[in-house]
Amino acid sequence: MPNPLYDTLFGAHLGRDAVFLHLIDGTTLSYSDFLKQSAQIAHVLTGLGLQPGARVAAQVHKSPQALALFAACAQAGLVFLPLNTAYTTSELTYFIKDSGAALVVCDPSAVSALTPVADELGALVETLDAEGAGSLVTKAESAPDRFDTVERSADDLAAFLYTSGTTGRSKGAMLTQTNLLSNAATLAKEWRFTAQDVLLHALPIFHTHGLFVATNVTLIAGGSMIFMPRFDVDQVLSLMPRATTMMGVPTFYTRLLDDARFTRQSADHMRVFISGSAPLLAETHVQFEARTGQRILERYGMTETNMNTSNPYVGERRAGTVGFPLPGVELKVCDPASGETLPQGEVGVIEVRGANVFKGYWNMPEKTAEELRDNGFFITGDLGMIDADGYVSIVGRGKDLIISGGYNIYPKEIELVLDEQDGVLESAVIGVPHPDFGETVVGVLVPKQGKTPDTDAIMDAVKGPLARFKHPRRLVVVDSLPRNTMGKVQKNLLRDTYKDMFV
Ligand code: ATP
Ligand code: MG
Repeated sequence: MPNPLYDTLFGAHLGRDAVFLHLIDGTTLSYSDFLKQSAQIAHVLTGLGLQPGARVAAQVHKSPQALALFAACAQAGLVFLPLNTAYTTSELTYFIKDSGAALVVCDPSAVSALTPVADELGALVETLDAEGAGSLVTKAESAPDRFDTVERSADDLAAFLYTSGTTGRSKGAMLTQTNLLSNAATLAKEWRFTAQDVLLHALPIFHTHGLFVATNVTLIAGGSMIFMPRFDVDQVLSLMPRATTMMGVPTFYTRLLDDARFTRQSADHMRVFISGSAPLLAETHVQFEARTGQRILERYGMTETNMNTSNPYVGERRAGTVGFPLPGVELKVCDPASGETLPQGEVGVIEVRGANVFKGYWNMPEKTAEELRDNGFFITGDLGMIDADGYVSIVGRGKDLIISGGYNIYPKEIELVLDEQDGVLESAVIGVPHPDFGETVVGVLVPKQGKTPDTDAIMDAVKGPLARFKHPRRLVVVDSLPRNTMGKVQKNLLRDTYKDMFV
């Protein structure tokens, strides 16, 4: 039976002996064996009575079996719903209730807390632990290793992915088979992935980056992945010689640069390093090139849209930019109030349209209507601009925009100046309530190791490059910025910490 997602990503590799996963214990898993296991899991899922279109929520550690669960859902026509492993039981309860999941797959340690929730909702519970063992796999062992693929069409839902919750409560993005497939095909082509590629995979697989970008691109190209449970600099350095490519969040690259063992030679054989999920500092881009002679390829996307832009594989990879709209993706920068397209070079809200753009937020018709226009453009909420050469830059998020005394202030412009100052490693600029101005600017600084930034001197120094209304009213020094698992700075937490500073 036709099922474009399964057929293209998985079915195409049935019976192939080529390696799909290189595991850190030195063993490998072939495509053939992986697909036998996913077929067995598909039997378990349908044996539980799950009907096509049902949601399978999975809060599981990264393991080959967790990926096989994704493949099994695709083959059985179920909607895969991966959840961040950091979520607590009460957070999980929300996601399970909200999604109406028919099955919850969780770590054995979570069973006793989740069973009452699942019972209340009529959902089933199966387990899968960090080693890839649990009730799901035990049941699968005795099932046949061939499964008749359930028919699905390109427009059917394939996954249901919650956003990272950086700006508020996570929203469930409904992604169709086409959303995933179109993006995987485009990215594999743009980034030249082939069956010879070995991707160093240290990302989590509950997020679009590790699951849909990294895994789907590998699958569609028929390559393999060095599948690491997490980013561990020693492990990454020891396994990099066997890789050809790497995808990571910016903190992966800063951590590599912090390690003197990471040299030009360690990177020499690598075909490409790709970064995304959070802004890569231009300084990191420059340092990386100085160290390795290679430029990181930065791209931009989000849960709702998969990837939207990418720096070129061939051609200039420009620091501080996210490159050009991908083929098949229309991107415009619009006036937030009127929605009119702005002239090139002006900062506005980024809107995108294409086969990559999701179907809407689950259970949130109003929010969907607010952000997804009738003409198919999705209002991303990110602020950006397109330069004269067509490169897109992200200036920040609309929700982080500071409005002080009627002026719009883009935090990134100030952060770039603060980052240049003596003793400053990185910074985050936020708006906090102020009785006269509505909001005012606060700069949060992280010192370079062993340095103590002189905040008075920095206050003076920023007066040159920045207009008066953009000057931080106060600078605070902290050990590190709050970040979520994807390396995103949580400005909402900073705003909360400093909300009473002036009131
Ligand atoms: P929420 O929508 O729940 O607040 P989130 O937007 O962080 O969370 P994701 O979908 O994981 O959830 O992240 C997408 C966002 O990540 C983008 O909207 C953008 O702000 C940011 N992002 C991704 N790639 C880049 C990049 N290369 N440069 C700058 N920002 C990026
Ligand atoms: Mg978002």
